[in-house]
Amino acid sequence: PIYLDYAATTPTAPEAVEAMLPYLTQSGLFANPASTQHCLGEAAESAVERARTQIAELIGAHAKDFIFTSGATESNNLAIKGIALTYRDRGRHIITSAIEHKSVLDTCKYLESEGFSVTYLSPNREGMINTKDLLNAVTDETIMVTIMHVNNETGVIQPIEQIADALADTNLFFHVDAAQSAGKLAIDLSKTPIDLLSISAHKFYGPKGIGGLYVRNRKKTRLTPMMHGGGQEHNLRPGTLASHQIAGMANAFKIAHENLSNDFEHCRQLKRTLINSLHRIEGVTLNGGQTHTLPNILNVSFDNVGSDSLIIALRDRLAIASGSACNSGAIEASYVLRAMAIEGDRLYGAVRISFGRYTTEAEILNAGDAIISEVTRLRELALT
Ligand code: PMP
Repeated sequence: PIYLDYAATTPTAPEAVEAMLPYLTQSGLFANPASTQHCLGEAAESAVERARTQIAELIGAHAKDFIFTSGATESNNLAIKGIALTYRDRGRHIITSAIEHKSVLDTCKYLESEGFSVTYLSPNREGMINTKDLLNAVTDETIMVTIMHVNNETGVIQPIEQIADALADTNLFFHVDAAQSAGKLAIDLSKTPIDLLSISAHKFYGPKGIGGLYVRNRKKTRLTPMMHGGGQEHNLRPGTLASHQIAGMANAFKIAHENLSNDFEHCRQLKRTLINSLHRIEGVTLNGGQTHTLPNILNVSFDNVGSDSLIIALRDRLAIASGSACNSGAIEASYVLRAMAIEGDRLYGAVRISFGRYTTEAEILNAGDAIISEVTRLRELALT
């Protein structure tokens, strides 16, 4: 099948795979980066530190403010619970949005069960959070705000720079889940006053199981760790560093930045082709605003066609999704689109088509044809 689920995960770039190999084998740098008593461990450690510096520089950060984790789920957990536990005596209110990834929403739900209160901001119909609504939700009890950079179902870009500036003179911590934007949109933490930022390698052509958390000035932004152990990552995330994953991540991140505008333009072209192709039939609605958005995700609904029947009918030909990977399986309407006040057919018929660097124009044209013929067939079936 044609893979059109890049928002769930991307294939690992061949260059990144190549960059990982030396950290796995005996002839290479496989030693434990914490084994600095011997020179093999020291070499592994300096390779990890080179990767850290490289990644940090690409987001305008200091290497000492960037720690490695297993991915954005872990980074989001550590950022949100880590702040909540350290600063609970300052206040117990957190502001987030209704369209965050489950790793943010469920972390907030957990904190509610521990006595915190959480405001879940609703987006407008275009899928965008409003900075004024956010500022209006701040109370004396508020300690942190957590808002995603790019939504994983619609591709809509949230006004994180505006929010960061608005919060800059307060003592609130601002966390951004940048899982969908890192390596696709430039982020400059030297200019944008964000306190914590989560990224994940497998969304930008790196390997799965590795990501990171930026923590601005660790001494001032004090996190309570979620795990305890051997002291790695300033005690915030102990455990033997996955040097091969880290090398792959750094390589993929570098390539993503070298290709930032090429990848963007490529996706813009593909999205235009796909939209033109789908508009050959009636009753096609795009979900989410189309102006402040990344071009690699198209969320679309077809009148009188349920997303589950369409996805199943196309299963052997196209890998597409309804909502996010974490929630598909259970066929439930998207909570993201629901929060955008989308209802009825448009809600139950929404599919997410996402693509990237390795997707070709021919694949998009084939996908468009396959979708149109299945939508037409399913509509005819419904009439008989
Ligand atoms: N946040 C967002 C916005 C995501 O899209 C994802 C991946 N589905 C995550 C967090 C979780 O990332 P990871 O798979 O690295 O845990």
